[in-house]
Amino acid sequence: MSKYAVQFQQGMSLQQFLSEFGNEDQCRRAVFCMRWPDGFCCPSCGHHSHCQLQSRPLIQCHRCHHQTSLTAGTVMAHTKLPLTQWFLAMYLLTQSKNGISAMELRRHLGVRYPTAWLLKQKLMQAMRERDDDTPLSGAVQVDDAFWGGERHGGKRGRGAAGKTPFIAAVACATDGRPLRMRMTPVKGFSSAAIEQWARTHLTTDSTVISDGLPCFRAIAAVCPHQALVTGGGPASVEIPEFNWVNTTLGNVKNALHGTYHAVRSRHLGRYLGAFAWRFNRRFNLERMVHRLAGAVCHTPPLPYRLATIAEIHG
Ligand SMILES: [Zn+2]
Repeated sequence: MSKYAVQFQQGMSLQQFLSEFGNEDQCRRAVFCMRWPDGFCCPSCGHHSHCQLQSRPLIQCHRCHHQTSLTAGTVMAHTKLPLTQWFLAMYLLTQSKNGISAMELRRHLGVRYPTAWLLKQKLMQAMRERDDDTPLSGAVQVDDAFWGGERHGGKRGRGAAGKTPFIAAVACATDGRPLRMRMTPVKGFSSAAIEQWARTHLTTDSTVISDGLPCFRAIAAVCPHQALVTGGGPASVEIPEFNWVNTTLGNVKNALHGTYHAVRSRHLGRYLGAFAWRFNRRFNLERMVHRLAGAVCHTPPLPYRLATIAEIHG
């Protein structure tokens, strides 16, 4: 699909969304089908026969009488929000190119700010985990990058204090078009951190091009790696081999600065993951809500404590 075809995609109209996910029953049916596409399976005993309780939104197994909710075991677990709110948030988060701030989400959903913030963190976690399940392959451009710190002066570039290091990687087709991207915070640009990243995010049949940063040699433990020494500076961004990874880095930084007041470094992985998730599915805007709902149904719970404090590097 050409760049223009991507930009002028119809997407999913609000009307289309509401006719599919406009009421609680529709959303419940959608979640049920996504969680158990081959029919219900009791999480306790594996039995298939079940009934829906009338008094509470629970499913009861006919054999062992175990009761489970539709959302138990998913990132929606213990939610007090109706599923229609979850689906509306998925719609708003996927249909705009740069995502939506928690403040905007709060207004659209009519909920408190902390509720909107946590809901969004959970959706972004689902996006990130779904992409992290599939390593990049083929010709991959890799670059080191930093988030934060730019606006407060001080030392610029690699190693500057107060910045969060992350790796940007773009897998390209044989004709050079970008296919999929991945952006991952790392503890630092050490050989050990880069090798661990490569083992998680690259297949062994990938071929990687990076600039001359020494730590990237560690990628060779996983797959072939070629270092192109660019010499740094503005001229290095003109090198065609780094075309897409540089474009992508520019886009993600603009998107995060433009949409969000501030992104804390400990949450950066989710914001980068959500941006990449949307990019990786840009050819099919219309199905994004379905695909995010599928990811949400298969992502384990994210307790508030973890949503607020933890950043898992790797
Ligand atoms: Zn059972």
